[in-house]
Amino acid sequence: MQDLRMDGKVAIVTGGARGIGRAVSVRLAAAGAHVVVNYGQSEPEALDCVAAIVAAGGSAEAAQADVASAEAVQAMVDAAIKAHKRIDVLVNNAGVVRDNLMMTMSPAEWARVMEVNLGGVVAGIQAVSRQMMFQRGGSIVNLSSIAAQRPNRGQANYAASKGAVEALTRAVAVELGRKGVRVNAVAPGVIDTDMSARVRDAAGDEIKARVVLRRFGTPEEVASVVHFLASDAAAYVTGQVFTVDGGLSLG
Ligand code: NAD
Repeated sequence: MQDLRMDGKVAIVTGGARGIGRAVSVRLAAAGAHVVVNYGQSEPEALDCVAAIVAAGGSAEAAQADVASAEAVQAMVDAAIKAHKRIDVLVNNAGVVRDNLMMTMSPAEWARVMEVNLGGVVAGIQAVSRQMMFQRGGSIVNLSSIAAQRPNRGQANYAASKGAVEALTRAVAVELGRKGVRVNAVAPGVIDTDMSARVRDAAGDEIKARVVLRRFGTPEEVASVVHFLASDAAAYVTGQVFTVDGGLSLG
């Protein structure tokens, strides 16, 4: 069990103050990591997350950066390296939805989803990879979605962004593996967060009936798989996508 401990490690979690990201921040801190809780806009949410971690005996700080800006992400990572001298884990969790049918989707709806969900992951990987290669170790975990394989109507932008994240995960794993840096992805099903509220409200019972475990997932249930992949317990795992969907994709 020792390999699930993260003592002395530094982790950055993008969009780490809310939903799945918050559960990941809390869990990695509980395992002993110092967590940089990234936020785009809501500083109070991030400070609340940091306070909860510290109150539980953990270590964390808040760091602002819109992941759609490669410059902002690089500046955040550089500041973390300057302060802590290392980066062991990057969880590329920040994501958005702008659902619309492809036929009527605006260029802005397409662009924002791609620049946050895919561009943000690219920016994060580019910002940490030199440091992780220098350290000869590190773990990057990207949040995908089952929508990459099984999209619903209105999710063309979101599904395309997540499909690209999965392909990127494999491609970057091939490039960074020889330096001991692992890259994996987690593809959640329907998880009880703000992001899925609309779909759960509109079609909750119908979706639950298709989930083998007959319920939505919790952010903590996704965080436990992210933690496994971030930790040395997954030391021989790279380039993989882990589906965490209660069996929804079997149906
Ligand atoms: P959420 O909306 O509750 O949280 C998303 C987080 O990302 C928020 O903290 C938000 O502030 C942050 N964020 C958004 N844009 C940002 C930006 N430009 N810069 C920095 N931070 C930004 O959603 P969630 O459900 O917790 O989703 C987390 C991840 O899991 C996302 O990548 C999402 O696509 C994925 N996911 C969620 C579900 C689900 O059912 N909830 C399913 C599959 C995949």
